[in-house]
Amino acid sequence: MTPALRTSPAVGGGVSTSGLVFNLQKYCLDDGPGIRTTVFLKGCPLCCAWCHNPEGIHPRPELVVVESRCVVCGECRAACPLPAASLGEGPLPARLADCRQCAACIDACPTGARQWIGRTMTAGEVLREVLQDRVFYEESGGGMTISGGEPLAQPRFLLALLEAARAASVSAVLDTTGFGPTEALLAAARLSDLVLYDLKAFDDARHERLTGVSNRRILANLEALDEEETPVWIRLPVVPGFNDDLEDLGRMARYVAQRRRVTRVSLLPFHRAGVHKFQRLGRVHALEGVATPTAERLAAVRRVFEDAGVPGVSP
Ligand code: SF4
Ligand code: SF4
Repeated sequence: MTPALRTSPAVGGGVSTSGLVFNLQKYCLDDGPGIRTTVFLKGCPLCCAWCHNPEGIHPRPELVVVESRCVVCGECRAACPLPAASLGEGPLPARLADCRQCAACIDACPTGARQWIGRTMTAGEVLREVLQDRVFYEESGGGMTISGGEPLAQPRFLLALLEAARAASVSAVLDTTGFGPTEALLAAARLSDLVLYDLKAFDDARHERLTGVSNRRILANLEALDEEETPVWIRLPVVPGFNDDLEDLGRMARYVAQRRRVTRVSLLPFHRAGVHKFQRLGRVHALEGVATPTAERLAAVRRVFEDAGVPGVSP
């Protein structure tokens, strides 16, 4: 995709605008065209039962424990200033009710098993890292993707990142749940070459049960994108027994077929990659026993969208 550079007023506050980032992942092939660096912003108003980036949900830095690195030396326990009686047995858990976030246990840990997730960066610092791979973007038609968490939860930082990318002639893709202020979404879309837009369920009660929020704002924002020029690719996680009801998906498909900017729908089969991340955060994955969808079920979901006339359904 060739980025179409459009002029727009600066609204993000410049390269010194800072925000909370929990990952900068290079060589991504699934977050838009070509080879991309994906910038994950921390904080998300949704809490999807199948989330594979649970470390992106909380809007502040968090402590995690990588259990495979723990050698049970007890240094974290010895360093922690909290009363011994409140620490339980064995290595300190990731979540202690009275944790002061002093980081003494992280500094004391000899193996790096205890880590902070989330660091404050300026838009300029992010872009410097992104630009290290410019040669790959130019050869593959890639660039930067901003994901999360939910990027719209940090609107000034998001817009500053997109403006910085545009100033550097780097293609930018926004990956969003669509749950955020409409003005920020539209401003971000105008600065992006593509919007990746998640839909999770069409029935509102089901959506709220699965994600913790109503989908009304998400659908209204998708309709607002009809009036913009930026193409939209829908991403639909398919979670057996939770959102693969073909009747509800049929309603969603007919709705999506009416959206003027949607040029592709990607079905994302549920996978269990997030289970270990939940454990590292000291949480339980709500879908621990759920299997990935069968090829037959995915084919049935695909047919529902194709029959509704939706373009570019994959896989
Ligand atoms: S960050 Fe929390 S768990 Fe770690 S030493 Fe400080 S109070 Fe204890
Ligand atoms: S200091 Fe690190 S390696 Fe030692 S018990 Fe604590 S988490 Fe495990």
